[in-house]
Amino acid sequence: MKIRNIEIGTIEIPLLTPFRTALRTVDLLEGIIVRVVTESGMVGYGETAPTEAITGDRKHGIITALEILSDCMIGESIGNQERLLTIIHQTVEKNFSAKSAMEIALYDLWAQAEGVPLYRYLGGEADRFHTGITISLNPVETMVADALKAVKNGFESLKIKLGEAPAEDIGRVEAIAAAVGKQIGLKLDANQGWSPKETVAFLAELEQRELRVQLIEQPVRRADFEGLKYIKERSTIPVLADESAFSPEDARALLARQAVDMINIKLDKCGGISKALEIADICREYDTVCMIGCMLEGAISVGAAAHMASARAETVILYDLDAPILCGDSPVRGGAYFGGAEIHLSEKPGLGIECVDGVEWHRKISTKKRVR
Ligand SMILES: [Mg+2]
Repeated sequence: MKIRNIEIGTIEIPLLTPFRTALRTVDLLEGIIVRVVTESGMVGYGETAPTEAITGDRKHGIITALEILSDCMIGESIGNQERLLTIIHQTVEKNFSAKSAMEIALYDLWAQAEGVPLYRYLGGEADRFHTGITISLNPVETMVADALKAVKNGFESLKIKLGEAPAEDIGRVEAIAAAVGKQIGLKLDANQGWSPKETVAFLAELEQRELRVQLIEQPVRRADFEGLKYIKERSTIPVLADESAFSPEDARALLARQAVDMINIKLDKCGGISKALEIADICREYDTVCMIGCMLEGAISVGAAAHMASARAETVILYDLDAPILCGDSPVRGGAYFGGAEIHLSEKPGLGIECVDGVEWHRKISTKKRVR
């Protein structure tokens, strides 16, 4: 079954409230959707989001990379998995967001061809999960109100965005902890906002004030592996790598030098499902666990991340797949269900996507396969 054409489109979905971290403020989810269509009419959907502040990938760059990959993939048999993955990962350098979108569409097709949901195709069993939700970086009163609202909506785990002056950040954690009570798990994400010494002092202060948190995510600059290690050696609070861990190679380097306790896997950082599975396997090798996270992505790619996580359920134990919940009505028909803290995977073959409303299709590529 050959690939007949590939379509690339964009979609914009307003967020219910602006998303704010130490790196950026966003009020719109910008999705880039890819549709891979076979000669028999089977359709695989993929998706990514331009998250320039983290991945360096901008909208037009992603579209260009998808066009280059499309030119190489049209006419290829979807059964030739190794070849297609090689095309995706070796035709262009970096461009992990584009690679992820294309991989997701292929995995959707591969699972559909087997007649099973993607998580089953990948060897998973669990089809429902609880995700935490992010509390954006704002004045403390706003964060407390957002945290209380999230708890009222059934969330048992909150990821608190920090990364401004540590003294003010301590006040944020203290106020939220007091408001939500001890039953609610708190994770802290400083998005590279602090120095290693500031982080160690911050974590010591938390302990002194008996503020219990589950982990600290990416407190220092992404390239500062030694800084992460410095923190890990001086704190009992687990250190989670996010921006430092893009590729399987990054994950191995961090774990081999014992710089972090856990890895946050995101499809847009690593380049798709195959790489995410590889990172989970590396974590297992090092007897550690992972979080599955997402950028501000829509229900297709976040759903794909949940299918991947199901396939590595022993290792991927922390879920931070809240982006579709931060939006208003989903334009995706079919696929995973996102409601409050619950995610249910579709039982239909592949990702189970029926259609996506409101996509502006920029480019339909149905040229003859380019001779390379
Ligand atoms: Mg993070």
